Amino acid sequence: MDIKKFIRPTICSLKAYEAKEIPCKVKLDANESPYGFPEGLNALKSIKTNRYPDPEAKALKRLISRDFGVKPQNILQGNGSDELIYYLITTFGGPVLYPVPTFSMYGIIAQAIGEKKIGIPLNKEFDLDLKRILEAIKRQKPKVIFLSSPNNPTGNCFSSAKILKIIESTLSLSVVVVDEAYQPFSSRKGFLPLLKDYKNLVIMRTLSKIGLAGLRVGFLIADEEIINEVNKVRLPFNLNSLSQTVATELLKNRKAMQSCIKLIISEREKLLSGLEKINGIKPYPSEANFILFRVKDTDTVYKRLLKKSVLVRNMKGVVDGCLRVTVGTPEENRIFLNTLKEILSISKS
Ligand SMILES: *Cc1c(COP(=O)(O)O)cnc(C)c1O
Repeated sequence: MDIKKFIRPTICSLKAYEAKEIPCKVKLDANESPYGFPEGLNALKSIKTNRYPDPEAKALKRLISRDFGVKPQNILQGNGSDELIYYLITTFGGPVLYPVPTFSMYGIIAQAIGEKKIGIPLNKEFDLDLKRILEAIKRQKPKVIFLSSPNNPTGNCFSSAKILKIIESTLSLSVVVVDEAYQPFSSRKGFLPLLKDYKNLVIMRTLSKIGLAGLRVGFLIADEEIINEVNKVRLPFNLNSLSQTVATELLKNRKAMQSCIKLIISEREKLLSGLEKINGIKPYPSEANFILFRVKDTDTVYKRLLKKSVLVRNMKGVVDGCLRVTVGTPEENRIFLNTLKEILSISKS
């Protein structure tokens, strides 16, 4: 029996998202925060394991609504923003448009659902190619557009004027999802203030990059009508009690989180200038918690780093010739820089 025969062709040709667990001492490959918040776990004692979680995540939404100055009706909770990408494409359908390179899940999920993908290459500055995007919008009428700003893996924010043009040109055509996973690390204003002016704008946020990746908490902020529609495809208890409780507890007092974010931003700048000083490395400035850098013999450098127990992300096939390093603790960043210098000086001689 050939199982492949009755699997949908779009799934057959799909490759599973690779989240390999590679043992290492210095883990700088997945844009996680080096800082966790175990104090949030104290709240778990009140959890009733025999009861379903709050299907509406009311307590969590109340806090998000306070922090972002929106109503709870404008928020939809997800089991990570990955799940929300699924829900958005399920709700609106395709084609799904996004720039490339960008976060891989937009394409993977579009394909899994069987929707058409439209990937438009970024320009040389890693900014949006507005002309080509507007042409594609006109010709192919995408239903959902994903713009990750700051963008993963390039680290830059897209031009706000270009994003705005895209939103304005699709008012009655598509929803534009601005994925602000890395906004906490950015010096630029996010798109939240524009929500009241544009009904087709959706903001996507996550707690994954600011210390809670293990909890899987993401959320959408959008017009109430959009939230209500997407809510129809949401699984009833998508956010489990443990995640709801711990996230709520931690959001009550954001001070600790805020100071970790500040530290990561200042470490990012140190890491950038450290990389700039190394011969043969070309780092790109970043508004996120990681830095993309160009280096000759990427595969060799990647492997030699790993041999010294320093794990970064090899961007082969996504941005050829580049590695991506997540900002770690000051100690981890120092080890990374020193190891990289050592490797490059050996390979030259
Ligand atoms: C990491 C990442 C996400 C995924 O976030 P989760 O909430 O952990 O699912 C979404 N968008 C971008 C751009 C990311 O880099």
